[in-house]
Order: sequence, then C-alpha cells, then structure tokens
Amino acid sequence: MLLVQKYGGSSVGSPERIRAVAKRVANARRRGHDLVVVVSAMGDTTDDLTTLASLVTGRERPQDEHPREMDMLLTAGERIAAALLTMAIREQGFEARSFTGSQAAIITDTNHTAARIREVKAGRVREALDDGCIAIVAGFQGVSTEREITTLGRGGSDTTAVALAAALKADACEIYTDVDGVYTADPRRVPGARVIRTLTHAEMMEMAANGAQVMHGRAVDIGDRFGVDIRVLSSFVDDDAADEGAPRGTLITHRTQAMEELVLTGVAPKGGQAKLVLRGLAPGMRTQTVLLEALAENGVSVDMVNESFGGDGRMQIQLTVPEEAASRAEEVLRAALEPLGGGEIAAQTGLSRIALVGNGMTGRPGVYAKAYRALLDAGVEVQGVSTSSISITVLVPAERETEAVQALHGAFRLEQTGAADGVAER
Ligand code: ADP
Ligand code: ASP
Ligand code: MG
Repeated sequence: MLLVQKYGGSSVGSPERIRAVAKRVANARRRGHDLVVVVSAMGDTTDDLTTLASLVTGRERPQDEHPREMDMLLTAGERIAAALLTMAIREQGFEARSFTGSQAAIITDTNHTAARIREVKAGRVREALDDGCIAIVAGFQGVSTEREITTLGRGGSDTTAVALAAALKADACEIYTDVDGVYTADPRRVPGARVIRTLTHAEMMEMAANGAQVMHGRAVDIGDRFGVDIRVLSSFVDDDAADEGAPRGTLITHRTQAMEELVLTGVAPKGGQAKLVLRGLAPGMRTQTVLLEALAENGVSVDMVNESFGGDGRMQIQLTVPEEAASRAEEVLRAALEPLGGGEIAAQTGLSRIALVGNGMTGRPGVYAKAYRALLDAGVEVQGVSTSSISITVLVPAERETEAVQALHGAFRLEQTGAADGVAER
C-alpha cells in the first residue's frame, strides 16, 4: 500500500518533534507501507523568514516587490525540515531520500508566491520508491515552466501532499497536524467544538475558503477532482496507545448521506474584510457592470455584492473587498463613478465574514432566522449577508468575531452530532 503523509510546521517544530515524526514514519514502514512524506518548514520558520525579508528591505510586504527572491527564501524552510527528517528516519534504520519540490518535478505556473500546479512528474520520487526508499518531499514548492523556484501560497504543503497522492495514485493520504482533525469550529476559539468524523470535499473547501486553515482549500479541490480521500489527524497522539479500532481524525471524502437531510458541518470566520457602500447612483445594470469591471481591471476581488433602491429613485450598492484593497477599491470606484453621474462612497474596514457551512440548506426555512436570532441575542450586528448552496455567510465587526462564531455554533447545536435538529425543531 502506498501512503502519502504530510506533517505540518508544528508537527516538526523541534528536534524532538522531528524524531517523533521519524518514529511514526518508521512504524508505518514496519507495517509494510511504501511511503512518500511531505514536510512543512519547522514551527514559525516561514513567518520568521518573511520578517527577516521585511527587516532587510524595509517593506511590510516584501513579496510584492521581490516575489522571485521570496520564493528562493521561503522554500529553504521546507528544505531544511526535509533534510533533517530524512536524517532522523535513516537513524531509525530505514532508507530515506529527500527531494525539493523542483527535484520532485512538481511543475507550476510562473506566478511567484502563489503558483498553481500544472503537473506532478515525480520521476525521482517513483525511483526512490522503486529502490525501497522512503521519499521525503519538501512541501509548498515547485519549479515553474520557466525553471524558476516557486511556492504555492501559505499553507501550501497540504496541496503538495494531495497532488502527489493524486499523481502517484496513492492508496491513502494523511495530513498530520496539531489538532485531532477538522472541528465544527476552531477548537482554540470555541470550547464546545467537536471533531467532524466525515465531511465532503465541497464542505471542507467552503470551510477552508472561510478561514479554517486546518486544510489548504486548493488541496481539497485537487482531492475532489482526482478522487483522493484525505484523512486529517494529530501527529501528537501516540497511535500505539490509542484504542484499537477507534475512529481517527476526520475523513474528507465523497460521502453519501440521507437524501436532502440538513447536515451542518461547521462555522468558520475570516477577518480582514472591508465594506464599501455607494449611494446616490444612477439606477441600472450599466452602473453595476462598469463598476465591477473597473474593480476587476485593477485586480480587486469582490466578495458580496448587494443593490437596493432609495425612495429618490437612486441606487445603492454595497460590496465587500479584502481590507488591504479597500483604499484602492475606493479610488477606482470614485474614478469610475464620475462619467456615470457621480455618487457617494463610504468605506468601513475591520469586518469579518462568518460562514455557516452545511448541506441541504437550499430552500429550507428557518436557517437564516435562527442565525439572526442567535446573533441578535449575542449583541452582534450583522452588516451584510450572502449565501451559496452549502453556506450562509454574515458580515460582522471583527472585534465580535469570536462571539459570532460561538453564538452560531451554539444555536445550531454543533457541539452535538446530528446538528440538523437545531433547525428542524423550531
Ligand atoms: P499545520 O502547521 O499542521 O499545517 P495549521 O496551523 O495550518 O497546521 O492548521 C491547524 C490549525 O488550524 C489548528 O491549530 C487550529 O487552531 C486551526 N483551525 C481553524 N479552524 C479549524 C477547524 N475548523 N478545525 C480544526 N482546526 C482549525
Ligand atoms: N510553511 C508554509 C507556511 O507556513 C507552508 C505550509 O506550512 O503549508 O505557509
Ligand atoms: Mg497548514
């Protein structure tokens, strides 16, 4: 059986942790598995290297000015961890060989600091496996079609692992981290959060897109497209001491479930949002279209968009954008509004989106009402809403983020299994 395992930064944060991971890998080998192990940089290495670049350049975001060099710098973190883990495994008496993303021939596009994988060749990884070696691959990196070193974006080691599992047709893909699996909400912020035993790729993608960083959304997308089931579990639990047959972590899979049953998965917050309210606009599709085009041309990604009409026949549009793009968006919109007959713009930063994720919400009465009641009772003011087929999202002040998550988690009884009762019962 071919197993791909990935160990995150906190799992390899110290020499002791690297030795513990080496032991875990060695145990899997003893059970007869072929192994490809993807590893992240030790602890906070990626953050520390980014800070170093900021100090040297005097820039808050050195990646904007020096994307190629940032990739050269950050890939070093994973390379260090891969080499050290390989040594530790060899000390356990097993053959192991480390590879950078480039050596593993993970081919990406040329978009430095957020490259997308084009193809996983992994010829040398296959060779290592054929030689009976454990292959250790540095996560979060590849080589571009222009032969430059690239990174896949923060949290990208998960994506390396799932992409390798897909390319090598692995029998299983295990993501080891510092919590016991995917929870109904971040267990560090919601004390009643519970491990979700299984969820679909679509649900996990929605959770990840809304800030549940336990899995990189792009990794889950690859898993979905290539039929890779992903198990998320803790590297801090001693498997040998655990109950035989006890469920381990979370399985992300193509679950089949009762037809049209409401199954709520979890709540995830994402800060760093800004709201722009444009008032007194000329009514009509043309205004919206021109404004959205202007934002798109300037690289501003828009999240929620709502329009309404005042008694004066003028139109109002409310849209949300990432906080760091707010002042640029305001500038772009002001310029675009001029030839359209003008209007006022008010910007508000310091907002968070809170997504309630689950299946079977479409067309079901009571979900919004329950969410609003919970937020009202918790004194959290809702600044905007949007829906998808598997989520509803509310915009709230960032300083109330935790209360909002806890209120929704409680109202829908996510601390209990069979969370759907929370709505059905009303
Ligand atoms: P790694 O270094 O292993 O990649 P990450 O820090 O990227 O780990 O992801 C694990 C962290 O994700 C956890 O420590 C937890 O605080 C956070 N997290 C946020 N939302 C969730 C959630 N819904 N379930 C589990 N963990 C979550
Ligand atoms: N080390 C990288 C990061 O911190 C990649 C990862 O951990 O997945 O973002
Ligand atoms: Mg991670």
